[in-house]
Amino acid sequence: MSEGLIAVLNAGSSSLKFAVFAGETVVRRGQVDRINSASSSAPARLSIAGDAQRAPIKQEISATNHEQVLDVLFEQFPELFGGTQLAGVGHRVVHGGAAFSAAVPVTDDVIAQLEALIPLAPLHAPHNLVPIKAIRWRLPDLPQVACFDTAFHAGQGPLEQMFALPRELYARGVRRYGFHGLSYEYIAATLPAVDARAAEGRTVVCHLGNGASMCAMLAGKSVASTMGFTALDGLVMGTRSGDIDPGVLLYLLQQEGMTPDELSTLLYHKSGLLGISGISSDMRDLEASDAPQAKQAVEYFCYRIARELGALAAVLGGLDALVFTAGIGENAPQVRARVCELSRWLGVSLDAAANTSKQTVIHAPDSAVHVLVLPTNEELVIARQVARVLGD
Ligand code: ADP
Repeated sequence: MSEGLIAVLNAGSSSLKFAVFAGETVVRRGQVDRINSASSSAPARLSIAGDAQRAPIKQEISATNHEQVLDVLFEQFPELFGGTQLAGVGHRVVHGGAAFSAAVPVTDDVIAQLEALIPLAPLHAPHNLVPIKAIRWRLPDLPQVACFDTAFHAGQGPLEQMFALPRELYARGVRRYGFHGLSYEYIAATLPAVDARAAEGRTVVCHLGNGASMCAMLAGKSVASTMGFTALDGLVMGTRSGDIDPGVLLYLLQQEGMTPDELSTLLYHKSGLLGISGISSDMRDLEASDAPQAKQAVEYFCYRIARELGALAAVLGGLDALVFTAGIGENAPQVRARVCELSRWLGVSLDAAANTSKQTVIHAPDSAVHVLVLPTNEELVIARQVARVLGD
């Protein structure tokens, strides 16, 4: 790692998470939630974790958008992004399009290219860009690096990247990209120290959080993923539909008279676990509920994972290892157990006791497929990418 501290920023639609790294260690971490809240009675909330020298901070801040949040952070906590020890800042950028297959230093030209990519990820990309532009304007000499969720998948083969649409659409960027790449890169980098077979063989990683996807890896390289053109494809998610017959979308637009905005809200914010259960997008709420709709939502979530696992095993020509990560993957043993039960035909056999006792290795001794639980760490991957780019 290069000398000096590295700040990592992850700007989502209603939150801004940040961490400051010294080498591989987090020395400061915090977040602002409830940004862009329409209600003035729910101001944004800032929290910064305490450490040996500093008490934790929790306060409301009068900011209703990301620009205002950054103004407050610059004024009240100048050391976070402007300290003299800071070597650089890394940003999570959801979509790198076809142009970016690795992390890049931020220049005016890169900002212009990222702005041109906004239509590919209209709900995420604008937020990612706000802190990049704000820091470039306020601290033009501070090196910034854009780190992409799509980059890990850039080496996938042509068949995985294409849709069966007229070729000119591919040239215009309408193709499969894959997401959650920062998380998958962390897992791929961690596997060699944990399980040689998973690191070197045919492995499927399930990133199961509010957003959820799966990635098929061959010797740690992405060969296929369940998310495609947008982060809407593939698995059932907290509020996103995942895979859907495109004919449904045409029906809703043409026969039911939905507007494109209404359709977008339906697919991104009202579907998935929330839509099926009618109760919650949060797996903890659904596991705690006795309602049949909640049980069916969890069962459908697992069913879709098992179905995609079959498809990804077909791409890989077999399966050596299965890895669970992110909020649900790391913390929901019942989901892991159900997915493994549905995948017995692939040679997956779980050690039930290991699965419920926070172990890393959770397969039975006779299982043909290794099954692992690994906490992900996207921020560390960003810090590593920044160090690599700045060290080049
Ligand atoms: P994000 O995509 O927002 O980063 P996370 O990786 O934090 O999401 O995952 C959030 C999901 O993890 C939520 O559905 C939450 O209910 C689930 N989760 C977190 N802890 C548990 C737990 N102990 N049991 C079941 N689900 C959990």
